[in-house]
Amino acid sequence: MNCPRCGSPISTPPEREWNFQKYRVSRFRCDNGDKFNLYAGATKTFTIPRPSNFKGFCENCKTQNPDHAVYCKNCGTKLGS
Ligand SMILES: [Zn+2]
Ligand SMILES: [Zn+2]
Repeated sequence: MNCPRCGSPISTPPEREWNFQKYRVSRFRCDNGDKFNLYAGATKTFTIPRPSNFKGFCENCKTQNPDHAVYCKNCGTKLGS
């Protein structure tokens, strides 16, 4: 599993877990300090935030660029590795 914000692999266990409706929720924290929730249900599993929301996100300067951006508008780093 990878962090939906920065894409780095998650190697640590969840900080906490609880039930939400019919989902088992796990709160993870990635090496870069991003926090996200993993919702694991019988029919589907997803994360909040969803990875697609962070397309165009620049890891270098934390700028959110348009989805289609190839280079960060702020610092010029190539996106979408
Ligand atoms: Zn992250
Ligand atoms: Zn940038």
